Amino acid sequence: MTIWNLGSINADHVYAVPHIAAPGETLAASALNRGLGGKGANMSVAAARAGARVEHLGAVGTDGGWMVARLESYGVSCTHVQRREGPSGHAIIAVDAEGENAITLWPGANREIDLDVVKRALEQAKQGDILVAQNETNGQVEAAALARARGLTVAYAAAPFEAEAVRAVLGHLDFLVLNEIEARQLSEALGTPVERLEVPNVVVTLGARGCDWIETASGARHHVDAPKVEAVDTTGAGDTFTGYLIAGLAEGRPMRQALERASRAGAIKVGRRGAADAIPTAEEVDRAAL
Ligand code: ATP
Repeated sequence: MTIWNLGSINADHVYAVPHIAAPGETLAASALNRGLGGKGANMSVAAARAGARVEHLGAVGTDGGWMVARLESYGVSCTHVQRREGPSGHAIIAVDAEGENAITLWPGANREIDLDVVKRALEQAKQGDILVAQNETNGQVEAAALARARGLTVAYAAAPFEAEAVRAVLGHLDFLVLNEIEARQLSEALGTPVERLEVPNVVVTLGARGCDWIETASGARHHVDAPKVEAVDTTGAGDTFTGYLIAGLAEGRPMRQALERASRAGAIKVGRRGAADAIPTAEEVDRAAL
């Protein structure tokens, strides 16, 4: 079974600064680290590290060769990743000594994905494959509708949160994954609690408190605790969790087992600094004494 991930690919440029710059101020950074990020890339890496076959659907700009190479080094197939003119998606992240940050995000190629290429790629998908998408690319609704029509299972992570983006894709979903703040925002925007959405499975992540899985047909709510760890960097925790969850589903694991493994992966991630490059391998997840 293959996971098709329509997702963003970002370069994270992380600058260590003495403090967050005030308006009009020029600041020299004391360190620069460049890493692979973007919700899509993080999820592809997580799912591949969990052992799944992953086809990434997305785009990078003329400066994005190293990101494609990095994704491939983690076992993600990039056959359908497009090359666009102009810059790749990137984040300029200033972090001060207290860990406070200020982020400027440029979506770049992530919002210029050619949907004909995505459609041709999905024509190779088989019934039972999984499509996953998040809200950092164009084409989410078109891809979800096409995947559903072809008999794929469709999962969507509602981040970065935009009520209209979720509303537009909702009717095509089998799984919706969102954190508790996003869940509250969505209920307010739709005037419906997430328990009553017309999506069969809703997973609400609760940070250090774990997650809830709601089967909306019966209203049953199942809780899974997160392992207790010391958090040093929560970047990409949600993406790691979702990538592992979907990989578990692709392997045919029962939902609770897939959620427990995803929780272990998310907990290990928050103990490490970085995004895609800090996502644990399946061996680390299965062996860690948590
Ligand atoms: P982010 O936006 O930081 O990537 P998120 O808000 O989408 O994350 P969270 O609910 O913070 O998602 O985290 C996703 C999952 O990761 C949680 O359900 C949990 O399993 C795990 N996790 C996150 N933070 C912690 C923590 N401090 N300790 C243990 N596990 C954690």
